[in-house]
Amino acid sequence: MVYSHGMPSDYEDWREAGNPGWGWAEVAQSYSRFERRVLEDGSSSGDGPLWVCNRDADYHPVKRHFLEAASELGLRRATDVNGADPEGVGGYNVTTRRGWRCSASVAFLRPALRRANLVVRSEAVVKRVIFQDRRAVGVEYERNSSAGQAAARAEVILAAGAIGSPALLQRSGVGPGTLLSSLGVDVVYANDAVGGGLQDHLGVNYYYRAAKPTLNNVLGNWPGRISVALRFLMSRSGPLSIGVNQFGGMVRSTPELPRPDMQLYFNPISYSAELVERRELFKPDPYPGFILGFNSTRPSSTGRVDIASSSASVAPVIRPNYLSSEKDVADVIAGARLIGRLQETSAMRSLIAVAPPFDPSQATEDDILGDFRRRAASVYHPCGTCRMAPETDTGVVDPSLKVYGVDALRVVDASVFPNITSANTNAPSLMVAEKGADIISSA
Ligand SMILES: Cc1cc2nc3c(=O)[nH]c(=O)nc-3n(C[C@H](O)[C@H](O)[C@H](O)COP(=O)(O)OP(=O)(O)OC[C@H]3O[C@@H](n4cnc5c(N)ncnc54)[C@H](O)[C@@H]3O)c2cc1C
Repeated sequence: MVYSHGMPSDYEDWREAGNPGWGWAEVAQSYSRFERRVLEDGSSSGDGPLWVCNRDADYHPVKRHFLEAASELGLRRATDVNGADPEGVGGYNVTTRRGWRCSASVAFLRPALRRANLVVRSEAVVKRVIFQDRRAVGVEYERNSSAGQAAARAEVILAAGAIGSPALLQRSGVGPGTLLSSLGVDVVYANDAVGGGLQDHLGVNYYYRAAKPTLNNVLGNWPGRISVALRFLMSRSGPLSIGVNQFGGMVRSTPELPRPDMQLYFNPISYSAELVERRELFKPDPYPGFILGFNSTRPSSTGRVDIASSSASVAPVIRPNYLSSEKDVADVIAGARLIGRLQETSAMRSLIAVAPPFDPSQATEDDILGDFRRRAASVYHPCGTCRMAPETDTGVVDPSLKVYGVDALRVVDASVFPNITSANTNAPSLMVAEKGADIISSA
């Protein structure tokens, strides 16, 4: 539910990479068309379907320690984390409406279900795009073990995400020629860039025992859980109406940097992960605790997504190539050092009862890297695998999101990002959808 545009300069980079119309001034207009910004006092601006709420007042009181620690280090305080100058620490905006998650489905899809010209086929897996010559004329899908087809009078639009869209293009014959031929896929248009350019945020958390009560004190025991459940049922408020990622922001690890290089998280909860079948289940620790975490805002490592078979039932191979650039390795050290400095502030020292098992304030660079390589995890922000770029520059789609080399086919999702944005990627994905819809309807 964390909602962040990222930095305006992220989009200036999109534009400067040869994508006219995608600079900050233009994308800010798209954002404002679908957002309804709800402030702490309940007042709102904008009348878009997506509720973006400032819930700072509901965030846990231990936030005071984080904000004071950031101020001790001279980090900026963000006045509006989604404004024109979002740098600094603050409470994360969340996409909630009257206490419930306001997802893309709730905000955009459900209201559109009333339209006579919309049919939704759920539980359907698209196997490939159907081409006549090089024109996309429909898709083949499988649903409840039976095959189906959907024909397109005008265009086919893929929105299968940064893993699904390149895989679908490759299965349909648009992708690296040698790979496709080796898997028996007829090549419609050979383009090595399809599936390349994968970027993601790789982050790590440090778990502290707290000297003061945190969310663990309510979510870690049954009486507390029952009280927050009742509160949610009665008034749609309290911890169950917000997220655990409460405070943080985009900051500079050293003031000399031209722009924020780190995204911070301060969560007033700590938990251990338990593997239940293939899914991790998080259980709040039975003592007060909190998390400090970071990830590099703009990692430069790129990876690939490639199909391993022509069959839609075989998962593609994801090679993120994390930490494959010197910059990204240096960012890990800078991020851990920043957490170490935060930890050493007097505001944070008065909150910490026990330092984390791996203490970044005391560790050597080698140890920091070793720990990061062992424990770091995806922040789930894959993007860039059908990169929007001039064709001559490893592009998959042009600035109107049309796939190069074929007709009547577009991609509209996080896979088209020319570069990863500095924070969470849901907001930019929704912006791409809004702007993509504009481009398509005015074509
Ligand atoms: C656990 C988790 C937590 C996250 N939390 C946040 C957060 O707090 N804030 C934030 O900003 N971002 C968050 N993100 C990232 C955010 O969800 C993504 O950036 C965003 O959803 C990307 O949108 P998309 O449309 O590109 O892809 P998706 O939302 O992934 O949509 C693609 C859809 O296509 C479907 N699909 C794929 N292949 C096929 C096929 N062959 N046939 C039919 N359907 C197909 C998929 O099932 C999926 O529904 C989180 C991600 C995860 C996984």
